[in-house]
Order: sequence, then C-alpha cells, then structure tokens
Amino acid sequence: MLKVDRANYVRNREDAYDDHPQPIGHSQTISAPHMHAHAAQHLLNFLGPGSKVLDVGSGSGYLTAVFHHLVSGEEGGPKGKVVGIEHIPQIVQWSRENIRRDGLGEALDNGEIEIIEGDGRLGSPAGGPYDAIHVGAAPPELPQALIDQLAGPGRMFIPVGKRGSQVVTLVDKDAEGRVRVEDLFGVKYVPLTDSPTDRG
Ligand code: SAH
Repeated sequence: MLKVDRANYVRNREDAYDDHPQPIGHSQTISAPHMHAHAAQHLLNFLGPGSKVLDVGSGSGYLTAVFHHLVSGEEGGPKGKVVGIEHIPQIVQWSRENIRRDGLGEALDNGEIEIIEGDGRLGSPAGGPYDAIHVGAAPPELPQALIDQLAGPGRMFIPVGKRGSQVVTLVDKDAEGRVRVEDLFGVKYVPLTDSPTDRG
C-alpha cells in the first residue's frame, strides 16, 4: 500500500491520508485505507507474482493499483494481470488518469492493468478464471457469475447484503472446485447496482 499514493485517487488531496472513506463524485466513495488493507490482507495468499485478479466496482482505482504491485513480479518473471470493472463512465476515465498520475501508465498500456466499463455483477469471463476477486460494493446476494469466474484454488472478498445489514463474505474455491462461504464482519458499503443509465 505504501507504493500507492492515495492522494492520486481522491478528489480532495488535503484529506488523502485520513483513515476515512471519501466522496469520489456520482454518489460513490473511495473506501477507507483500513478497509483496503482488510481486503488486501484477506486476499494476500492468492496475490503472488503472475496471479490474475478481478476488482469489481474499481472506483478510484486505488486498490486496483495495490493489487497490481502485489502480482507484478520481478523483471523477466511471470506478469500478473488486474482487471477492474466500473460502470460509471466518468469514474472509469478518472481512475485511468489516477493510475497514470500514480506512475502506472505503462501497466495500463501493456494490459497488466485493464479498467473495463461494464456491469461488474457479470464479471469479465474473458480475463478469468481469477485467483482473487475483490468486490468494492455490496450486492444483495452473492453473484453466481463471480463464483463461476473464481479459479480453484481462489478466493473472493465481497460485502453482501442490503443497506444496514451487510457482511463481508469470503468465498473460497478449492482445487476440486468445492465452494466454501464464510461471513467475516459487518460493514457499510455503497450498493452494487444497475448502471445509472439503466435507472434512467
Ligand atoms: N474500491 C473502490 C470502491 C469504490 S465505491 C475504491 O475504493 O475506490 C464502489 C464502486 O462500485 C463505485 O465506483 C460504483 O460506481 C461501482 N459500482 C456499483 N455497482 C456496480 C456495478 N454493477 N458494476 C460495476 N461497478 C459498480
């Protein structure tokens, strides 16, 4: 996380290092640093050099960049790949600028980081299966498409539930494809929703 400067991923740079969520426009927020840390910590065993990662609701791009540092190995070694999916086009555009400002323009150019505009509930099967999936907004129930795109072994970190009763959930898939679900702790995330254009 020290390799990623949060000041490049917020709207108001003065508050960049506060341990709070911050508005990033369009009624969305960048998560607090401690939540990003929780997510990265729980996924850490699945984030080695060469791993494939899906970041759903990638928002500011902050955690996408953290994942990139964790999976991009040494010169000449296996190169990881991080796919971020975000459905608000202005945030997609802004997050790419953030990632460039943070010094990772080359990773965007060579495809080690890809930010896709789309419905994250459907994932991105083309880039999968993923060793780790992070979901940065809460759906009411576990999306089956994301479970399907998880590698075995693989792990997903996802807040699940309606506003007011969300729980961070770990979904583990083993090498035989068996899925195990574990509830971790209560949280308050923005909802994983229909795209703003669908809502009219
Ligand atoms: N980890 C990000 C979280 C941003 S908030 C960060 O810390 O910056 C969650 C993001 O999920 C918002 O940007 C929101 O636009 C996006 N989102 C909500 N529903 C979505 C969906 N169905 N598909 C893709 N992105 C979605």
